[in-house]
Amino acid sequence: MRRISDWGNFPVIEADVSGFESTEQLRKKLEIPGEVIAYGNGRSYGDSSLQERILLTRRFNKFLSFDDKTGELCCQAGVLLAEILAVFVPRGWFLPVTPGTKFVTIGGAIAADVHGKNHHVDGSFGQHILSMDVMRNDGTVVTCSPTENADFFNITVGGMGLSGIILNATFKLKPIETAYIRKETVRTNNLNEIMDCFEASDNWTYSMAWIDCLTKGDAMGRSIMMRGEHASTDDLLNQAHKETPLKAKKGIALGVPFNFPNFVLNPLSMKAFNFAYYNKCPAGIHQAIVDYNSFFYPLDAISDWNRIYGKRGFTQYQFVIPKEAGREGMNKILKKITDSGLGSFLAVLKKFGKQQGFISFPMAGYTLALDFPITLKAMELFKELDAMVADYGGRLYLAKDSRMNAEMFGRTYPNADEFRQAIAMLNEGETKFASLQSRRIGITA
Ligand SMILES: Cc1cc2nc3c(=O)[nH]c(=O)nc-3n(C[C@H](O)[C@H](O)[C@H](O)COP(=O)(O)OP(=O)(O)OC[C@H]3O[C@@H](n4cnc5c(N)ncnc54)[C@H](O)[C@@H]3O)c2cc1C
Repeated sequence: MRRISDWGNFPVIEADVSGFESTEQLRKKLEIPGEVIAYGNGRSYGDSSLQERILLTRRFNKFLSFDDKTGELCCQAGVLLAEILAVFVPRGWFLPVTPGTKFVTIGGAIAADVHGKNHHVDGSFGQHILSMDVMRNDGTVVTCSPTENADFFNITVGGMGLSGIILNATFKLKPIETAYIRKETVRTNNLNEIMDCFEASDNWTYSMAWIDCLTKGDAMGRSIMMRGEHASTDDLLNQAHKETPLKAKKGIALGVPFNFPNFVLNPLSMKAFNFAYYNKCPAGIHQAIVDYNSFFYPLDAISDWNRIYGKRGFTQYQFVIPKEAGREGMNKILKKITDSGLGSFLAVLKKFGKQQGFISFPMAGYTLALDFPITLKAMELFKELDAMVADYGGRLYLAKDSRMNAEMFGRTYPNADEFRQAIAMLNEGETKFASLQSRRIGITA
């Protein structure tokens, strides 16, 4: 037994944790009756990879094949995006979709159907999977793709590990000329301006905005948008970059060596941070060439940054609301958050494009993600926010959730009932895939 949590350090549980290195070892572990769940790299925030019995996938991490003409890569599910980037960026290839940290496994990326800064152009990670093998609770392996065993494929993508253990996946990397991004930064004065900016940025492959969730009044929602494109060799200005265009800067790895005491993060310190961050960026539009790590993964530069929230832990409230409700909905929800004074300094706004996933989070609209230290007041606020999100036709992201109830899940995910039935059917037998989250939101009994 060992203490384990996901990224938000809430909840922390005692669990029977073990790993596997081969399909045979995994099959043996699945012969043990009871509930079990896969744990990738624990970068989901809540309890979606937590359970009394946990199977770690990280040691199941081999590259299986690569076609350097098409970019088709097949690898085991425990491989980290960071490991793919380290091997393939120097060869001129990049991930089709990446979340804001590269320390997630391929299995975790598929199970949460993660999105990146390019959802409005390229969709979510699952849309790039050509095929995958998944081990079911009885030890059989299902090969599935959008055309082969398509129903099973559709509930595995975004299915939070409840249909089986993803063993390996084949997907296409995209060709790049350099390891750099041509970045444009735009500072806006309030929420309406940043939404105008998103509407005018549809032709950029990557876009996201950092948004201040503490400032009230006319400046509510003041933001800094970062948009970008993979730089071509002609875009590079610096001689050293031109000589080795596919060699990215490593950056300094900083760390947070211990949990911060709770008083370090308070409304004043967070306001001061937001003020400084916003004003560090000059007004107007600015261009720069930056390495891919600083553009896609700024938070990865500080390992264990989750410790700044202290022992009580934190959660990320990430919701999406449909485009039609976008302006009014975002204004009202953001006002509720700024009025509460509880929001923290990490809030990210993105625009989503259309989404076909059966149980995936994204939908055409706007998504906002904010970190909150775990407090009773925050829990009360979430209940009010849930009601607003649901009334506007939106939903919460399972990969970030640690507290949503079954009613909210059922009301906001249109395929919740069918998904629940499908998982119940697949879970027939003595071994069942279930997490603390799947029990809490009523997917598993
Ligand atoms: C700093 C930070 C930034 C982030 N930014 C984004 C973002 O921009 N976009 C986004 O979409 N997400 C984002 N996330 C969330 C993260 O991408 C997802 O939670 C992802 O699922 C984590 O992958 P993991 O390998 O750590 O899996 P875990 O967190 O361990 O597990 C997540 C889920 O995947 C399941 N799972 C894991 N491996 C397997 C497997 N082999 N077979 C079946 N199921 C499996 C687990 O059971 C669980 O349900 C971010 C997280 C952090 C910490």
